[in-house]
Amino acid sequence: MTPKNNFLVKYMSSKRVLVLWDEKGANTEDTSVLRKKSVELPVPMDKESRKIIQALIDSFMARDDASGLSAPQIGINKRVIVFRTKGFDEGQKKVKSIDDIEVLVNPRITQERGEKVTAAEGCLSCPDVQVEVSRFPEIKVRALDVQGEKINKRYLDYVARVIQHEIDHLDGKLIVDYGDVYYPKRKQLFFEKLFNDTR
Ligand SMILES: [Zn+2]
Repeated sequence: MTPKNNFLVKYMSSKRVLVLWDEKGANTEDTSVLRKKSVELPVPMDKESRKIIQALIDSFMARDDASGLSAPQIGINKRVIVFRTKGFDEGQKKVKSIDDIEVLVNPRITQERGEKVTAAEGCLSCPDVQVEVSRFPEIKVRALDVQGEKINKRYLDYVARVIQHEIDHLDGKLIVDYGDVYYPKRKQLFFEKLFNDTR
């Protein structure tokens, strides 16, 4: 078992986040990775799995504009997600501590409760746009934690939303699949062309 602090060494293996499009237009290379269904990490976790988890944590911690991140977004088609669990309300942008984040390996939603709630979501892999997405306000998830231990946990509200968003990534699903895409007016020409070309 690896002590928690080993994961905080440095954000050495921080990787670029893949995007469906960039300023040049559709990014077909990144898209093919983002659209692929990811596979589970082996249980028990091996050395390679721990490296992948570390790379995901590093890439997440290096940013100040994300609530969550999934392995396919850094080019690794494995079922791992990371998200922050604290500091949303205090206007704290950057995640400061490893205690503010959680990693889920091979996550599976085993229960969904309550009436779906609609809210605007953004995604690092879909730059500049927002989409209204309906998600369950309460979920139960079976997964392995960062240490590779089995967990079974309930999540609520915003964190539940982030987890559903990140698990979507593991199945190649992105916010643009959910409905109308909202983008800033100044980028209207760019997005009209992009969505005409790719839809
Ligand atoms: Zn996303």
